[in-house]
Amino acid sequence: MSIVVQKYGGTSVATKENLEKICEKIIAYASKKIKLVIVVSAQGKTTDHLIAKANDYSNAPNKRDLDLLLTTGEIQTASLLSMMLNERGYDSVSLTGYQAGILSDSTYGNANIKHIYTENILNYLNSGYIVVVAGFQAIDKLGNITTLGRGGSDLSAVAIASALKANKCEIYSDIDGIYSADPRIISKAKLLKKISYNEMLEAASAGAKVLHNRSVNVGKKYQMPIYVKNAVKNSNGSLVTDDSLENPDVIENKNIKFITKKEDIAKICIVGDMIMSNKKAITKIFSLADEENVTIYMISFSELALNIIIDKDKSESFMKKLHSILIEEETK
Ligand code: ADP
Ligand code: ASP
Ligand code: MG
Repeated sequence: MSIVVQKYGGTSVATKENLEKICEKIIAYASKKIKLVIVVSAQGKTTDHLIAKANDYSNAPNKRDLDLLLTTGEIQTASLLSMMLNERGYDSVSLTGYQAGILSDSTYGNANIKHIYTENILNYLNSGYIVVVAGFQAIDKLGNITTLGRGGSDLSAVAIASALKANKCEIYSDIDGIYSADPRIISKAKLLKKISYNEMLEAASAGAKVLHNRSVNVGKKYQMPIYVKNAVKNSNGSLVTDDSLENPDVIENKNIKFITKKEDIAKICIVGDMIMSNKKAITKIFSLADEENVTIYMISFSELALNIIIDKDKSESFMKKLHSILIEEETK
């Protein structure tokens, strides 16, 4: 059985008209030979609006409740798309992350996928259904609903494709593929036909949001071909693949592939004499980052200072906590 997993991102499913176009695309692709799993994001800016709503209704939204709220965005798109496919005479079923068997750890807001129980998806595929899965979400072993991190529907798609041993995973978005730089910033950016998992992982982690970095990592682990294509135009797109397949004819390749930038980050500087050898302080800093689910993108050390780069939206609360454990508690 040939299985293809397709993922449609926020802008591509933003309106009813967008969903109608996607229905046509799916119907044109669906055949007796190919089984389709469609992973969808929330429509347009729905996730941002839900976050703003949570912050309006509560000063400090509980992480578990926030995750439950955020998953409703993707669930809406999946249900709507499935209804539309059914109406057009195609058997289709919508599944939440939980119903799709996606098990994660309990890190609300940035959960890691532990396993995918594929039985439910496979039963529907074998019965001739198009399976529409709500992206960005999972369930932990206690039954709590989690989200996988912003942009996480890419991860849902690549992980599902890998678990199903699909032939490929296609990520449909609002651009023709992966470019040498964000085409919205650099008009002369070049479309890359192929890029290796390793290069794409670097670029995605450094801010190229065309693919979620963890989706690339999962693709690399399971050698899943990932295509990035335009959701509305017909384009060959870009293929993310193994280093050896990316440019097999050139033994040593010195070409520069990609330039990217990361926004909304903050540098935190912790100053203290001989900090480099202050193991107690360093352990506290990294343990706090782990507890608070703060990603450290870059570290630099000198004898006098430890600098770390983290997400701007987490920088104030992290600074307060650092101050509390490194200065207030120590001088008590
Ligand atoms: P989706 O909602 O479909 O997941 P995203 O907004 O997450 O889409 O990702 C697509 C966006 O990624 C594009 O609109 C583009 O501005 C941005 N982007 C950044 N770097 C690149 C790049 N090198 N190639 C293509 N797109 C890029
Ligand atoms: N809707 C989620 C977000 O905006 C996940 C995604 O779009 O992939 O981050
Ligand atoms: Mg995205």
